[in-house]
Amino acid sequence: MHEIIDSHCHLDLPAFDPDRDEVIARAREAGVIAFVVPGTTAGGWEKLLRITADSDCLYPALGLHPYFMEAHRAEDLTTLAALCRERRPVAIGEIGLDFQLEKFDAGAQEALLKAQLRLAAELDLPVILHVRKAHDAMLKALRQSGVKGGICHAFNGSLQQAQQYMKLGFLFGFGGMLTYPNARRLQRLARELPLDHIVLETDAPDMAGALHHGERNSPEYLPEVLDALTRLREEPAAGVARQTTENVRRLLKLT
Ligand SMILES: [Zn+2]
Repeated sequence: MHEIIDSHCHLDLPAFDPDRDEVIARAREAGVIAFVVPGTTAGGWEKLLRITADSDCLYPALGLHPYFMEAHRAEDLTTLAALCRERRPVAIGEIGLDFQLEKFDAGAQEALLKAQLRLAAELDLPVILHVRKAHDAMLKALRQSGVKGGICHAFNGSLQQAQQYMKLGFLFGFGGMLTYPNARRLQRLARELPLDHIVLETDAPDMAGALHHGERNSPEYLPEVLDALTRLREEPAAGVARQTTENVRRLLKLT
């Protein structure tokens, strides 16, 4: 068993209300020593902060996710700034750009993103990014922001885009999608990117791996992501676990 960190799991969501403690206990038994829980909407922050404060291995991030544009209100940004100052989350996230959504308003998403990037730069916090079909717009926004780095969660861009993100201090999150045999492009990225820029994640309860297709995803399955990455890179699991764990710790200053 290897000590690993789930750098992205939504343990605060209602999907885990019935058995959250059991899920965390099983994940810890499987070697998951820390869990980063990113926020998505202002309505969820209080619960997220309560759950993470009650635990010694759960770490909160706070942010307004582009997937929920209709839920966000202008005053949420003021609340976010106040909560970040008061509670000092490990990152601002999950924030980003999603240009794959059926009806998206690129302008509104970019305005929300830029406001949150400004806050991250001001508070010297890393960011956790959700980016779909929008890497060039994201890279441009990051360059203008002064943000020092973060994690590109569920990275799905090109190798060239990855190089741009690395220059800006970003790591890349890989999860259950790696376990699907037909995910060749993603597997190639996971093989070619330097290990000191890779972190493990589940994105639970979404994005279940091949062994749990159609089920609720869970941080207890994170060792399967480690397995997939280890096989792809043909490197010993112990080293991959140690390095990816160290990457999260260093970036998010986990103690
Ligand atoms: Zn997420």
